[in-house]
Amino acid sequence: MVYRRVIEWPSKSLKRVSTEYKDTDEQALVDLVDTFRVKGGLGLSAPQVGYSTRLIVVNESLLVSSSDNSELVMKNPVITESSNPAFFEERCFSLPGISIEVERFSDISVRWTDQDGKICEREYSGYPAACIQHEIDHLDGKVTIDRISQLKRSMIIKKIKRAASLEKRLARNEKSARERKTAATRAKNRRKRKSK
Ligand SMILES: [Zn+2]
Repeated sequence: MVYRRVIEWPSKSLKRVSTEYKDTDEQALVDLVDTFRVKGGLGLSAPQVGYSTRLIVVNESLLVSSSDNSELVMKNPVITESSNPAFFEERCFSLPGISIEVERFSDISVRWTDQDGKICEREYSGYPAACIQHEIDHLDGKVTIDRISQLKRSMIIKKIKRAASLEKRLARNEKSARERKTAATRAKNRRKRKSK
């Protein structure tokens, strides 16, 4: 069981365009599925766990209502047909805490190679279709904020930076409080030793 930390924006590795999945990329498959089982969610892509290979995993129960809750691995997924643009509210493990409305196609046809090497093709509609487009975007080095207007994008980036600097400040405060406490304890111990 290999659980890998999900890489967060603005890491450069999320911007890389992934290359074709090959049988020698087996480790990427193992790590991606293991991480997905721990993280949960609707889908995850190989670049998010550090592999630049065209591999995604999606929540099968989301895609097919009759399924038994397992994950669906897609090697080299390609969208062969798309129609009916619509907006979808999306979250991403690489942009924690951010929810963005992205324009996608409501109806798509996807072709991929499954875990046994079989070529599959299926149609998806609505949220499952958006989810697959989101994961394939990762293979092309794109995240949700690359899909919105420049203005919205800069607003969201500001929000992410503010949250990051607040986190840093809180960590710094906590550290200095800890240091003050240690210094106080040391001084107290010194006094104790002297009074003996
Ligand atoms: Zn994502």
